[in-house]
Amino acid sequence: MRLVILGGPGAGKGTQAQLLSQALALTWISVGDILRAAIAAQTELGQQVQPYVEQGQLVPDKIIIQLMRERLLQPDLAPGWVLDGYPRTAFQAEELDFLLDDLQQQMHRAIWLEASETELIQRSLTRARLDDTPEAIQRRIEEFHVGCSPLIDYYAFRDRLLRINANAPIEQVHNAILTQLGVTV
Ligand code: AMP
Repeated sequence: MRLVILGGPGAGKGTQAQLLSQALALTWISVGDILRAAIAAQTELGQQVQPYVEQGQLVPDKIIIQLMRERLLQPDLAPGWVLDGYPRTAFQAEELDFLLDDLQQQMHRAIWLEASETELIQRSLTRARLDDTPEAIQRRIEEFHVGCSPLIDYYAFRDRLLRINANAPIEQVHNAILTQLGVTV
């Protein structure tokens, strides 16, 4: 199964992606984690993306699309994957579909973790990541609101969207996702 997790910063994308990857034996791909690891290792990619990530701004599409192409071509993904942090815009969603067409694969469901703005800010502030400054959090929430509706529409229009209430506790959100996916574990 191939899944995409959508939601604002702090909506629980990483947590739910990890739980899903364990429950369904999928590879969890976190774009943010790949970028942060590249920054920590000061690779060429890391140096390119560092200013954007630190300020909570979207990394240019060209870099991210190339990164995703390389990642999805790797051989550990046979049972499927759950993608956390990509796509973030309708443009990236379209690019993902083009890439999957090339690979003769398809993405099954986009899971939208819907949480209130108060909840998003609260959760981001209690998380101790270096790029979680109040300014970066605010910027990521704004960026999410701008990019979000066309992205949600993209998947809704193609009948691939699952809407999940993400204000609920972690386990409840996880179970709601499994129920909506129609899987029993
Ligand atoms: P995250 O851990 O998903 O909140 O991502 C942290 C940061 O990585 C974001 O604030 C962006 O700077 C960058 N980033 C992650 N995913 C993407 C994406 N799909 N497109 C552009 N930038 C991204």
